[in-house]
Amino acid sequence: MLVLLRKKGGAAATAQVCSIAKRLLATTTAETTTAETTTTKGSPAEEHYDIIIGGGGMVGTTLAAAMTKNATLADKKVLLLEAAPEFKGFDASGPFLNRVSAINQSSIDLFKSIDAWPHIEAARCKPVKQMQVWEANSDALIQIQQDNFASDVACIVENKLILDAVYAHVRAAAPNYKVLNKARIQCVSLPRESGASNTRVQLQDGRSFSCELLIGADGCNSVVRKQMGVDVFSFKYDRMSLVANLDLNIEDGCDNSVAWQRFLPNGPIALLPLSDKQSSLVWSTTVPHARQLLAMEPSQFVDAVNEAFCRQYPRMDVADKAMQAVNAFFGNKGSQHLRQYPPRVSGLQERTRATFPLGFLHASSYVCNGAALVGDAAHRIHPLAGQGVNLGFGDVRHLVETLAEGAYAGFRLGDTQHLIKYERKCLAKNVPIMVGVHGLHSVYSTQFSPIVLLRSLGLQLTENLPPIKNMFIKSAMG
Ligand SMILES: Cc1cc2nc3c(=O)[nH]c(=O)nc-3n(C[C@H](O)[C@H](O)[C@H](O)COP(=O)(O)OP(=O)(O)OC[C@H]3O[C@@H](n4cnc5c(N)ncnc54)[C@H](O)[C@@H]3O)c2cc1C
Repeated sequence: MLVLLRKKGGAAATAQVCSIAKRLLATTTAETTTAETTTTKGSPAEEHYDIIIGGGGMVGTTLAAAMTKNATLADKKVLLLEAAPEFKGFDASGPFLNRVSAINQSSIDLFKSIDAWPHIEAARCKPVKQMQVWEANSDALIQIQQDNFASDVACIVENKLILDAVYAHVRAAAPNYKVLNKARIQCVSLPRESGASNTRVQLQDGRSFSCELLIGADGCNSVVRKQMGVDVFSFKYDRMSLVANLDLNIEDGCDNSVAWQRFLPNGPIALLPLSDKQSSLVWSTTVPHARQLLAMEPSQFVDAVNEAFCRQYPRMDVADKAMQAVNAFFGNKGSQHLRQYPPRVSGLQERTRATFPLGFLHASSYVCNGAALVGDAAHRIHPLAGQGVNLGFGDVRHLVETLAEGAYAGFRLGDTQHLIKYERKCLAKNVPIMVGVHGLHSVYSTQFSPIVLLRSLGLQLTENLPPIKNMFIKSAMG
């Protein structure tokens, strides 16, 4: 019957397969015991785990690694299910990869606490000591230096290096912690639907597992979230981010440690330092423009990037006058750090250009009986503030804390009464950042004069008022 339904194709057939599989799972649930391997009449042995993590991206794997380092959770039986083939590791002697993240201080502290940071530092990562954000339609700018705080502003790390650092800990925790690759979750049956005490998970290849708690770390199209049935607020930005690794024209001995971001009429363009001579480009723009940039000859592309950072856009007289007034009021303190220009780009690293669609998503709830969400499965934001995966790592910290407290107090791992504490902590942290980042995207996506004036004033006042600036930096640093 399953084969016949599959032949029909499309979402309807998949939904039907899922609902039949769910009914089958529900029937067998009643016969399941909490033993590690359970057998039901006529069905193959099914493994039971305390926790199953669905999705072994940066967030899911960091969660597994953080649990191995927690005294209360280290001896739990945990399964990490990842749809992709086995992770082949990271080669620090090879060229820089094009997927990188700006990791904030709070995430660095998490990696330090689970002993993963030394691995990252020993391989390669680039501390950001200064950041300059400025806009195209006025003189407004903000500069953030390392000396605002004792620590670096952020650190640029390749995504695969983060995975490598955390995978090492998950592998070392075998046999309690197990990773299954090419394991795509197709269906989930939650306790409230089946009347059972466990959550059941079925893979696309037919294998199934049960657990006390299923954690959805399966990204923005999360199957786990869909099966939880939570409301989702989401939309597309009709923008794409183009990433690429670029060679810079920097004199020997000069330090490439500044992150640059300019708000252009179509979206922000950012250069994040990778090494003394290379930076990572993240250029968010309209879909047709992103496609055009992707198709350009390398030399033409390099010219387009240089032009984007330097080009004079139509100015707004009233915004310029307002900037002058603000600077005069603050005794020109605003220009104490002179406006700088990014280094010229001299080349494009081969095969590093790629584009990614951008969207916003927030799940109305991160937990239900027997399941919880972390990372992009729960929230997805525009990359303009480099906060997406940092929010996910914040979820990891809160979830590990909550699960350890709950297990210690004798709660079942999947008990909503306890999981709700995790949700509360995450919402308090994530929602203001998500609203702020979306707000920034909105105010910088318009050329409407009053908005240009207001955003220029906002940026310049933030630059001139140390308490507001520090608050802003603290929240960006996590
Ligand atoms: C251009 C760009 C730049 C960015 N820059 C930054 C930055 O500088 N700083 C920052 O903090 N954030 C940044 N982000 C955001 C960041 O990349 C994401 O927030 C992060 O990758 C989310 O990680 P995740 O593990 O939650 O999800 P994902 O990376 O989407 O991982 C999900 C995993 O689940 C697996 N999976 C999916 N479905 C299933 C299934 N059914 N069964 C089993 N496995 C499944 C996938 O194979 C994948 O491995 C950026 C994003 C973009 C697009």
